Amino acid sequence: MAKVEREAAHLQGPAHAFDAILGLGTNLGDRVHNIEEAIRRLTADGSIRVVARSKLYRSAPWGVTDQDWFVNACVAVQTGLSPHALLKQCQTVENDMGRVRTRRWGPRIIDVDILTFRDLEIADSDLTVPHPLIAERAFVLVPLKDVAPELKLNGRTIDAMLEKLDSREVQPI
Ligand code: ATP
Ligand code: CA
Ligand code: CA
Repeated sequence: MAKVEREAAHLQGPAHAFDAILGLGTNLGDRVHNIEEAIRRLTADGSIRVVARSKLYRSAPWGVTDQDWFVNACVAVQTGLSPHALLKQCQTVENDMGRVRTRRWGPRIIDVDILTFRDLEIADSDLTVPHPLIAERAFVLVPLKDVAPELKLNGRTIDAMLEKLDSREVQPI
């Protein structure tokens, strides 16, 4: 099968061919490498399997704007892990790659957020799912659309959420 067809095929598939969608971001060092390395580490022990991945996007900083540009991506994954175990694995990868937490929304070598987990709604002190700021962030919605174009949150499509935002600041690399 041609590469383009294969890519299109793995982006389609039945609803819930994936369990969770992860959002990745980085604005320090070799950003493209950081995304690849995070995905490699997340999947290394076999408990998380990537079934679709977005293009890589260059994005303007959001929230704290006096910092360098980001690279963002999303992956749809299959996993037998619980939501909290998945969060732990994401945080282990962040820490092992040298994430240093300074100010909120500040520069980071890698950030891995759980955007969705099946149809679950979770409101724990350490885990909110779906991630609460998805609808306000073009840098999340644009790659999210690559892996889950049919996704709706609170009844709203990704395009409806993007309509209110400036997606010109999120460009494929
Ligand atoms: P934001 O969550 O607004 O994107 P951030 O990613 O920079 O900000 P972090 O410092 O990476 O924030 O994480 C802060 C805390 O958020 C974590 O310790 C984690 O417990 C919590 N958290 C809550 N919901 C989620 C989620 N869906 N995915 C990842 N972390 C989450
Ligand atoms: Ca984040
Ligand atoms: Ca995070």
